Formats: sequence, C-alpha cells, structure tokens
Amino acid sequence: MKFEKVTVVRNGIPLLTTPDFLRQPGLTAVFPTRAGGVSKGACAAFNFGFSRGDDPGDVTENYRILASLVGADPAGIAAVRQVHSDRVLLAPRDGVANPFTGQPLQDADGVVTGEAGIYPVCYYADCIPLLLYAPDTGAVAAVHSGWRGTLQGILKHAVALLTEELAGDPARLLMAIGPSICPRCFEVGEEVAELFRAAFPHHPELVLEGFDKPHIDLWRAVEVTALACGLREENITCLGECCFEQPQRYFSHRVHKQERGVLMALIGRREAL
Ligand SMILES: [Zn+2]
Repeated sequence: MKFEKVTVVRNGIPLLTTPDFLRQPGLTAVFPTRAGGVSKGACAAFNFGFSRGDDPGDVTENYRILASLVGADPAGIAAVRQVHSDRVLLAPRDGVANPFTGQPLQDADGVVTGEAGIYPVCYYADCIPLLLYAPDTGAVAAVHSGWRGTLQGILKHAVALLTEELAGDPARLLMAIGPSICPRCFEVGEEVAELFRAAFPHHPELVLEGFDKPHIDLWRAVEVTALACGLREENITCLGECCFEQPQRYFSHRVHKQERGVLMALIGRREAL
C-alpha cells in the first residue's frame, strides 16, 4: 500500500484522487471534500445525504454541481442505502437507483458496474470509501467499508463481481482508500478489538496497543483483505486523509455526531473502453 494523493481543482473546487486513477484515460474517480456545495450550517457545503435535515433542493444542487465538475450525467449516478452490510449490487442488473429522483434506494453497501455512463457512489463520514477500477475491462466499484463492513469482508464481494462476473484480472485492479478515520484516531471498545483479532488471526497489527483503549487500523484491514483477493500491493493507494483530524475539511461522525452532512465518493467512465 502506498500513501499518495492528488488534488484536482475544477472551478475552484478541490477533488481528491490518486495518481494511478489520473493515469487512466476516460476514468472519473473522485473524493470531494466539504468545499464546493451550496448546503448551509452543519451540512455546509458539499452534503450528499437527503436524510441529514438538509434542504433537499440544496442537496440536489450539490449532485448537479459535482456531476457537472466531472462531466457526468447526474442521471447515471447509482446509489444504495447503506446499512453496514456486506451486500454489493451490480448495476444495472440489480436495478440500482438514482439517489435524487425519489426512487427508493436498495439496502446494500457497494455498487459495481461494467457499463459506461453509470457512476457508482458511496457515502461516508469516518467510514472508509473504497473506489476500484479494472483497467482491462473498464468496470468500476464504490464500496462503503466501515468497521462492520470491513469485518464482514464486503470488499471481497465487490472484487468477485469485478473479476468473476465481469472478467477482470484481480492483479490489475486499482484501489483507493479514501478519506476516513485513521489508525491513530480510531479508538474502539475491547469487544470490537476482539472481533478483529478473531476475523484476522494472522494480522495482530490491525489492533494497536499502547493507547488507553484499543485502536483499529482499518486501512490496513482493507489492504489485507484486498491482498487476499489477489490485488497487488503496488495497486493499492491510501490517500492518508483522516476525517476525524480535519473536521473543517471532511464530515466526521465522531467529531460532528449527528449534526453533519455526508461526503460522497464517485467513480465511472463516460465512454466504454
Ligand atoms: Zn486520524
């Protein structure tokens, strides 16, 4: 796993991505920060959640702004209602909904597609947003991997769709670990630490000692899972951005509690390979 990030500025709005993603022709893969939207107050400014008490008109406008910045058709955005599961849907096969047309979202935590013009997204505020790209097929994935999803190995289900269903080579998959809570900040109870020790018996380094309470290295847990799926270490990039340490830049569940918006990561191709 390497720690790298690139900030692309469009219309004055910063969008984070990775050098590996930037090198892929025709690919859009971005992690916006809070800056750039029209939401106000606790949701200021780039809030993509309709259930945060925000003005729905402002949220819709945020989707429009982001889509316009990356040259995507907003109607192609594909979202799910995240429930800390290990369920990943394949769009359009599984009928993934568009988040701002009033369509009910399905319960799941990841979206994969092999079709250009479909833009999987995931929402987060401390939990890990993962974006994946298969350069041999053009397929993409967005995965919400909080500690529960990481424990359940949600990433494995996304990789299975990208490789078995859509015939991508796991050794070529590119993955980015987006802004989320870092190992220094992710304090948990002993019961959660024990769940990680049980789920990753060969990786004691995932539970950090030496703090008042155990800390979990979710970034490393995701990397371990990715390597087990056949991804190569050099194709895994962590942005190294911690939401908890930068609450002005990112929404953080642990800092802002319920008084906050949600961030969104987006990936897709405008045209087929
Ligand atoms: Zn941190």
